[in-house]
Amino acid sequence: MLEVTNLTKHFGGLVANDDISFGVAEGEILGLIGPNGAGKSTLFDLITGFQAPDEGGVRFEGRSLLGLRPDQINRLGIVRTFQKLKPFEKMTVEENVMVGVMQHTANMSKARDHALTMLSFVGLLEKRRAHAGTLSTGQRKRLELARAMATRPRLLLLDEVTGGVDQRSIPGLIALIERLRGVGVTLIVIEHNMQVLMSLADRVVALHLGAMIAQGTPAQIQADPRVIESYLGTAYA
Ligand code: ADP
Ligand code: MG
Repeated sequence: MLEVTNLTKHFGGLVANDDISFGVAEGEILGLIGPNGAGKSTLFDLITGFQAPDEGGVRFEGRSLLGLRPDQINRLGIVRTFQKLKPFEKMTVEENVMVGVMQHTANMSKARDHALTMLSFVGLLEKRRAHAGTLSTGQRKRLELARAMATRPRLLLLDEVTGGVDQRSIPGLIALIERLRGVGVTLIVIEHNMQVLMSLADRVVALHLGAMIAQGTPAQIQADPRVIESYLGTAYA
């Protein structure tokens, strides 16, 4: 479904993504791991058109995404969430989701119906009239998921969706991601929580200092000496 080939991105003298190649099959959940600064979010930026690569390319269902804007890539069926959440704080939860829906329809009542369906899907329906600024971190993550899902993606890129979330909210988020897969969405998830990753991911790609150092099943990745050294730490081993 997605093919990333030799993606390279420099910021001044720093190489944020260094010759990265991998593929994602339809229906798969691919995990993306690596220490802070490894280049994970930059990779999402390159795939979704928020940054242009210096070298390499991205193909989605055979079509090159090079030179397309984020909204054009979104319309092809790819959407990403952001590590730093930015809901419209003074708008209601429902209005926030409608903004996503309105990219696909100008019909207000249809947009509202679809927004409510998405809010119900993520378990936020009862909060629909609350201002987004009043939500907890876990609820904001769900709102972000509803906004992303409102654009009807076939490939969804989640940037640290469990990051900063109360431990008790994590099982619910995992169940929600499983349900996304259940409705036919293919996923790439940036995730620091190894337990979450083990239960969700079919395959994992590990980055370190911009380069891909390993890919494999979660079990293979957990046992990989380079991943242990660069990311998981020797105590973990
Ligand atoms: P991760 O998401 O894995 O923590 P990032 O992709 O955010 O890593 O960052 C990778 C490296 O690129 C970091 O050193 C970061 O400081 C740098 N970087 C990311 N975005 C920019 C940018 N827009 N301008 C300059 N440097 C950036
Ligand atoms: Mg990041």
